[in-house]
Amino acid sequence: MPEKTATRIVADVMLAKLARWLRLFGIGVENPRYTDDYKLMMYAKRTRSILLTSDRALHARSVKNGVRSLLVENAPLEAQLAYVTGSLRLSPRIDEKICPVCNSPLRKISAESASRYTTKKIAEEYDAFYYCRKCGKVYWRGSHLKNIEATLKRVLSYRKSHYTGLPFPARIR
Ligand SMILES: [Zn+2]
Repeated sequence: MPEKTATRIVADVMLAKLARWLRLFGIGVENPRYTDDYKLMMYAKRTRSILLTSDRALHARSVKNGVRSLLVENAPLEAQLAYVTGSLRLSPRIDEKICPVCNSPLRKISAESASRYTTKKIAEEYDAFYYCRKCGKVYWRGSHLKNIEATLKRVLSYRKSHYTGLPFPARIR
């Protein structure tokens, strides 16, 4: 099971990429498929989640309705990741806990089991595999890891140099 973050987080559809990256860094974020802002806001309220949104109107409306909302400005991905993790006081790390695609817990599986889902070569080459029961995807620490590590480095350095460290919810209007 993934480590329970103190709070649930939901992100609007516009922030799907940011949400996927947060999951890659071990932070669970739901992307409910609501096209209707009101429904998304009410979902966040009902589940006592923090709403991440890039929509000013939705953010203002959410705050008015007692939903904890964080307005994520249009910015480079690393800046957004630094801002969200800094504001919510979360530590991004490389940790295969959560399926980046569907936000379900990942389970470690053996190379033997993984070989059923991937090529023999990959199953032989790597030794740690993770399986998402919900969407059936298998993950392993492959070549993409370098890219993830590089992004994490940039996020952490961005947090050090740019992020002022105002605690959440001080940034909520
Ligand atoms: Zn999944």
